[in-house]
Amino acid sequence: MASVTFNNVSKKFGEFVAVADFNLEVRDKEFLVLLGPSGCGKTTTMRMVAGLEEATSGDIYIDAERINGVLPKYRDVAMVFQSYALYPHLTVEQNIGYPLKIRKVPPEESKRRVAEVARRVELETMLSRLPRELSGGQRQRVALARAIVRTPRVFLMDEPLSNLDAKLRTQMRSELKHLQHELQVTTIYVTHDQIEAMTLAHRVAVMNRGVIEQLGTPREIYSDPRTLFVAGFIGSPPMNLIPGEARDGIFTSAGLRVDGLGQASVPRAVLGVRPEDIHATGAGGRDANLVAPIYSVELTGENTLVSLRLGAQLLTLRADKNFAGQIDQPIGIKVAADRVFLFDGESQRRVDF
Ligand code: ATP
Repeated sequence: MASVTFNNVSKKFGEFVAVADFNLEVRDKEFLVLLGPSGCGKTTTMRMVAGLEEATSGDIYIDAERINGVLPKYRDVAMVFQSYALYPHLTVEQNIGYPLKIRKVPPEESKRRVAEVARRVELETMLSRLPRELSGGQRQRVALARAIVRTPRVFLMDEPLSNLDAKLRTQMRSELKHLQHELQVTTIYVTHDQIEAMTLAHRVAVMNRGVIEQLGTPREIYSDPRTLFVAGFIGSPPMNLIPGEARDGIFTSAGLRVDGLGQASVPRAVLGVRPEDIHATGAGGRDANLVAPIYSVELTGENTLVSLRLGAQLLTLRADKNFAGQIDQPIGIKVAADRVFLFDGESQRRVDF
């Protein structure tokens, strides 16, 4: 059992509030991702669990134990950093075994456990190498092996994949997910990469300016965003966010008209629609929500991203990979009205209709 609970936790650096009145319960065996842009307070939140920063106010618990003020080494957590933080003069075997050495685990048992985790992360043939003789991906696996060589109560991972190239990152992502499932250790994982968050997490806490904007499963965060910030942060390419006006259930903005929004009336409205929920129709399509010339066409492989100009901004839709339209050619688009979101531009919150 190891849940991590934050009760009204704040962290200030001088006058600057990095984390503000933070409340969260990370459940036992959960993979929880703290997701947000640079500077939103993710790392600070995690460092407070590790004991590398002290909360200015509020309480942090691991299970029933209040850990504020407890020295890091007595918290029984293991951290993996983006920078690996390996000892350059120690071999892979010594690096992985280091946490066992400082806990005075007998050498025989330590050797056995190091060999076992090295096998798990496919480093068993590299035990005698030094970190500088490894690739970035291999170094990252040493850092991971060092964290899992003993079973801590909690894993804390701070952007552990961000130094890897795209291919290795995808591979390590699934390895990490599998490993956490196998080890069943409560994990807090920090990232600004929404794909990483969506693929790894049981639940995601989307952070902005030191507070949680929304907490939910990846599916909830994607399909039920409660604020403009969450709507714009999740999804690639991101959701189209179109400022305009909603009156009696009809949204209008620079030539775009979407009806079927119940009775909603919002003077400063923002309509949110994902590229995958807009469909191209013929230019003469009478039921089109908008007819406009194509601004750009990008084939990504599995789809084609098509952009149209809408007032001062671009509207992007995800079309079929065989989409044949050309730049400047007019097309019509149909917005799936049952898939759009309406936000109040003043409060930044979603308006239900
Ligand atoms: P990143 O993804 O860039 O690491 P983050 O969300 O993890 O961002 P934090 O590292 O938690 O952000 O920092 C949150 C805010 O607190 C930032 O504005 C940062 O400048 C500030 N901050 C962090 N540590 C300190 C410190 N020791 N002294 C002063 N300000 C700090």
